[in-house]
Amino acid sequence: MRKKIVAGNWKMNNDYNEGVSLFSEIVNMVRDEKKGDQIAVICAPFIHLNSLAQLSSGVVKIGAQNCHQNESGAYTGEISAKMIKSTGAEYVIIGHSERRQYFAENNQLLAEKTVTALQNNLVPIFCIGETLDERNNGSYFNVIESQLEEGVFGLSAEDFAKVVLAYEPVWAIGTGLTATPEQAQDIHAFIRSKVEAKYGVNAADDTTILYGGSCNAKNAPELFAQADIDGGLIGGASLKSRDFTDIVKALN
Ligand code: 13P
Repeated sequence: MRKKIVAGNWKMNNDYNEGVSLFSEIVNMVRDEKKGDQIAVICAPFIHLNSLAQLSSGVVKIGAQNCHQNESGAYTGEISAKMIKSTGAEYVIIGHSERRQYFAENNQLLAEKTVTALQNNLVPIFCIGETLDERNNGSYFNVIESQLEEGVFGLSAEDFAKVVLAYEPVWAIGTGLTATPEQAQDIHAFIRSKVEAKYGVNAADDTTILYGGSCNAKNAPELFAQADIDGGLIGGASLKSRDFTDIVKALN
């Protein structure tokens, strides 16, 4: 059985005190709502990771939003996967569309980051998804297939089994424009079929594929009810404890 996950992505929000206070609220609320096998994660800015890990009581897992592809060295201002792991964080988002867009991260670089994350025992949440132009010109299946092939399909089956995928249509991120449950399900089924073609039917069945893009407490139940949607990667709504908790509840 594949894992069901709701992961919040705080992006570049919350100073230190705000982060600690929001996370404490989230832990208290999620503790009451979460069923045993569901996983809630908050992917926070680096400055929060260690404190949040100490406050998490195992109720909410911690993730980072990026890592460097190299193990260590003269890369001023960067953070390594080993550093992230040492804070108590267990997850790391790789290849968010904002990283692809604003920091020119391409599939080749993201493949390297994924390997480094895995070598440091972090679970990569690997993001894929098309832009509005790619949706409109019909190339989106090809775009998603290349992101998979170049980003994660170089992994061994054993390593791939540790990866979580997140489908985040760029046109739905922060726009209030959610993919319909049918649109999202279509792509999730396509992604799973590609995983099956590469790694086999059991691996495909076991792969967690999250949906992200204006997912909120209202639309989460219908999205999560789709056969191939195994949870969400949540931006804006993860900045409010009640909203985030209600989205975790929608996994039920
Ligand atoms: P929003 O939920 O704010 O649209 O952001 C989605 C996202 O980018 C999560 O990584």
